[in-house]
Amino acid sequence: MSAKRRITDLSLAEFCEFAAAQHQRPFRGQQLFDWVMGRGVCSVSGMSNVAKPLREALEAHFDCSPPRVQWSGDAASGTEKAFVQLSDAAGDGVEAVLIMEGERTTACLSSQAGCPVACVFCASGVLGLRRNLTRGEIVDQFLAVRERAQSHGRRVSNIVVMGMGEPMLNYSAVIEALDIIHDPKGGGIGARHITISTVGLEKGVARLTAEGKQYTLAFSLHAPNDELRRELVPFAAAMSIDAMVQAAAAYLDGTGREVTFEYVLLDEVNASSDDAHELARRLRGVRGTVNLIPYNENPGFNWKRPSPEQVDHFAEILRAAGVKVSVRKRKGHRILAACGQLRLQELHRTH
Ligand code: SAH
Repeated sequence: MSAKRRITDLSLAEFCEFAAAQHQRPFRGQQLFDWVMGRGVCSVSGMSNVAKPLREALEAHFDCSPPRVQWSGDAASGTEKAFVQLSDAAGDGVEAVLIMEGERTTACLSSQAGCPVACVFCASGVLGLRRNLTRGEIVDQFLAVRERAQSHGRRVSNIVVMGMGEPMLNYSAVIEALDIIHDPKGGGIGARHITISTVGLEKGVARLTAEGKQYTLAFSLHAPNDELRRELVPFAAAMSIDAMVQAAAAYLDGTGREVTFEYVLLDEVNASSDDAHELARRLRGVRGTVNLIPYNENPGFNWKRPSPEQVDHFAEILRAAGVKVSVRKRKGHRILAACGQLRLQELHRTH
């Protein structure tokens, strides 16, 4: 990390404090926040209504360079992927994805560089964890995706923290970044349009529940029982399926928001009719939605995506049992949009 804090790391309150410390009136802080979060301008030369001494002070205190981003993919396919360079690591960065689907424009953000969880089918964990991202590095991803969406005449409507990393292991930075992204004077994304996805870590989930925010909580379930789940998700023991179901009820109680259960469908692993029936029995009566995600195949991994018929059949069994289901459309497979794939490719290229 560069020694200076990213300018995108600051909340509105912190910009106002900074302005005060520079003997400026508080509205100057609001102006700065508006340049960065309202208009996506990080470099002080673009801040036309800010007096020179304040611009110079900003530059002296903060890293005001624009996020360094390389884009890949093709807007016509609906998905484009950003590789956002980290300032401290040559060749290394994190991924953010722009997904355009009908009315919906989603930014998928990473919470960590690499990931310590290492789910067996996921590319993000292959090299382990490099480090936690700062608040500003998460906001940078949002700004990059928003700008790209704008260039296609679209506005980001949804945020999912489903990129690289486990958000509950970088809790404060993730929540503070989302608060800036949500702030009506900042990113302006409605809390209910923001989803945090986790493998399930008791402490973080309890903390999020206690905060009472309106963010959507998504559990990465991936199996109908703890035994299979432990084979797929190395951190599964941290929270049993029973504990997740209880936490889902507590989240609904505390926030009024139903949780989502993500279930990556892997052929011949967790996608059979028996698995669907077992999952249906397990989730019967639980308030929430199962989001079925047909596996995005990764080069170097042998896991397979089930056929569309199998996916439909799995969904039907759940529906017939009264479980709410959504099926993720096939997006981004051509540009390696599954978590971590692009970073692996990039690291192979540069190292
Ligand atoms: N660590 C968090 C958030 C990041 S992963 C979590 O596990 O929830 C976001 C989701 O993408 C998870 O459900 C993860 O299992 C899933 N995922 C990872 N690799 C995938 C792939 N190749 N195809 C489909 N989904 C994948």
